[in-house]
Amino acid sequence: MNSPAILKVALDTPLRRLFDYLPGQSLAAVGCRVRVPFGRQQLVGLVVAHGAGSDVPPEKLKAVTEVIDTAPLLEAPLLRFLEWAAGYYHHPVGSVLAAALPKLLREGQDAREAIRFWSATPAGQEALAAGTLARAPKQRELLAVLCDHGPLSGLDLSERLPRWRELARSLLARGYAECVEQVLEATAVGPGARAAQVHALSSEQQQALDSLVAGLGQFGSFLLDGVTGSGKTEVYLRLIDEVLARGQTALLLCPEIGLTPQLISRFAERFSVPIAALHSGLTDRERLAAWRSAAGGVARIVIGTRSAVFAPLRELGVIVVDEEHDASFKQHEGGFRYSARDLAVVRAQAAAVPILLGSATPSFESLHNVVLGKSTRLSLPRRAGAAEPPSLQLIDMRAHAVHRGLSTPLATAIERHLAAGGQVLVFINRRGYAPTLLCSGCGWIAPCQHCDARMTVHQREGRLSCHHCGAEEPLPQACPRCGHSVRPLGHGTERVEETLAERFPGQPIARFDRDSVRQSADLEAAIDRVTSGEARILVGTQMLTKGHHFPDVTLVGVLNADQSLFSTDFRAAERLAQTIVQVAGRAGRAARAGEVLIQTEFPQHPLLQSLLAEGYGGFARQALTEREAAGWPPYGRLALLRASGVKPQAAIEFLTQARRIAGTPAGIALQGPVPAAMVRRAGRHYAQLLVESAERPVLQRFLASWLPQVEQLESGRNLRWALDVDPLEVF
Ligand code: ADP
Ligand code: ZN
Ligand code: ZN
Repeated sequence: MNSPAILKVALDTPLRRLFDYLPGQSLAAVGCRVRVPFGRQQLVGLVVAHGAGSDVPPEKLKAVTEVIDTAPLLEAPLLRFLEWAAGYYHHPVGSVLAAALPKLLREGQDAREAIRFWSATPAGQEALAAGTLARAPKQRELLAVLCDHGPLSGLDLSERLPRWRELARSLLARGYAECVEQVLEATAVGPGARAAQVHALSSEQQQALDSLVAGLGQFGSFLLDGVTGSGKTEVYLRLIDEVLARGQTALLLCPEIGLTPQLISRFAERFSVPIAALHSGLTDRERLAAWRSAAGGVARIVIGTRSAVFAPLRELGVIVVDEEHDASFKQHEGGFRYSARDLAVVRAQAAAVPILLGSATPSFESLHNVVLGKSTRLSLPRRAGAAEPPSLQLIDMRAHAVHRGLSTPLATAIERHLAAGGQVLVFINRRGYAPTLLCSGCGWIAPCQHCDARMTVHQREGRLSCHHCGAEEPLPQACPRCGHSVRPLGHGTERVEETLAERFPGQPIARFDRDSVRQSADLEAAIDRVTSGEARILVGTQMLTKGHHFPDVTLVGVLNADQSLFSTDFRAAERLAQTIVQVAGRAGRAARAGEVLIQTEFPQHPLLQSLLAEGYGGFARQALTEREAAGWPPYGRLALLRASGVKPQAAIEFLTQARRIAGTPAGIALQGPVPAAMVRRAGRHYAQLLVESAERPVLQRFLASWLPQVEQLESGRNLRWALDVDPLEVF
């Protein structure tokens, strides 16, 4: 080698570029982590490329301090994929890489430490007992730890004895300790006993599976459009079985693992290979171990939420995205706002494997891709087994007596279904006791001090809480302004539970919302109460719409469908239809037919009418025509520049300048800046600037030239701002 290569290093900084370093003692390969001097700190970065030269003058170039990995941590295709994501979302590559790596790896932790296990040898145990190491008290201490608690991973040891490495090496040299590498499935749920019952596929399931299997080995996009309970999961299982048989691995993305423990256990029952679960409920160490087991090719199936789209699987054979319409696939906080579903398609393309998107209520984007011929629709129009589709009916709230949010026809139906031995599910998309606390004297409404929002009443805990910023206050007994009495107005899950308990005494109720179900153990307990038949009535929020299988639920009541009927967001109708259809899908999933009653003040609303008359597919076709006329996605492309500042006008001023420097680019429309729908949130003032284009490449080119200039704006320095490419919500 003649001239030393320059290392192009990605660092987790807000700067949209790579940093040049000299190699130091040994040349770090692309994909390896290095520790580098950065200002007065030492940062961990990842080598993204080797370059021949640098724009930095040679005397200013610094050398890397340490090469952390001896072999690439990320394989080239995964690295290229992450770079692509950084480009598409116009986000610094260092920060994208940081989002993709477990925290312990970002901090420079030895990638193998999670799987390297240390223990005392018999000689070590004897030595300890004989007091041999009296002159080396530190080594003795470590040996004692290993004798008492071993085998311990490097990570465990780091927690107990920060400077254990050198000591361990000495013990190893003396033959008192040993070290083995073993990938422990810290998060694995398998290996299953293959005890699960396997159904004979319906002809539609078989057809879908045949098309998917025929598509293995190359890129192809498939939409599994199957009504709730039609056996989509069964198709995933069979497809993955086939992929495993070919010696390949599978990635399954799902919305929220904590909320779908049933999904994981179905996989664990069916397969006897190690499965790694990657989700937010893991500790840092568990996450690293799961990540390592995927990277090492040990885990053959990775099941995970959003960020698992970056999981380092080997020999990937297929990607499945379950409930692909779910909004939680979109990261909508922080700087790197990506869609895991969209990235999954790109990753499948790069890996030349098929992608399967499954849903009972496909996103309009996915339906449109079918129309464009970019994706193949596989349909499961019938429920699996003997289950019949539920019947949907509207209850006109203006025509019936209503007691505490519960109309007479719904109450009567609940009574009837309970008497017939069915379980009843009541859906209300609002947690807490009531959304408003009102003074009956002066009309005062309890406001959040930090947001343009009302406080929600949580009666049982005696507090008010803001669902936007988390602020809490004790529940006042009287109006702070005039001293009159105050009363809760409207209904949330807690109040509905109370109403139902009064109306149907002796019928046990299970409540599902974020207040009553805080962790997956709570959820499992609640699900158990339902599946065992102990609970007769289920009350809950969105949480109840997610994939649960409750065979004995025969009636679903939807209490407040009206909330989103008149929302200004272009996606509100799609969301509402998805919610109604998903929650309706919980009814009658087994032998008994289901009934769904939707309370509304607007029974003539075209959205509800088309949903009832034509189902989700018909509704979607109609709503897509409206989107096309308005140029909204999936017909047009959007990006949203959001900003917030502590001073009321700061965000607007910054966005006004950002708009000014954009000029009038061809094919781009800029809308705004405008204050956000909720201007003040958690003490900050929000505003946004919408960028529209009919063509994705036009939008991408514009963003690429505009953002570096936006970054230079003085007015942006003391603000928080972020670009959201393909935002889910624009108001
Ligand atoms: P989805 O994922 O579409 O909601 P599931 O795969 O969970 O549907 O299937 C719904 C129920 O039907 C499950 O209890 C499943 O075991 C059962 N099931 C799936 N496929 C079949 C089949 N071919 N025959 C009988 N039952 C089936
Ligand atoms: Zn008052
Ligand atoms: Zn608030």
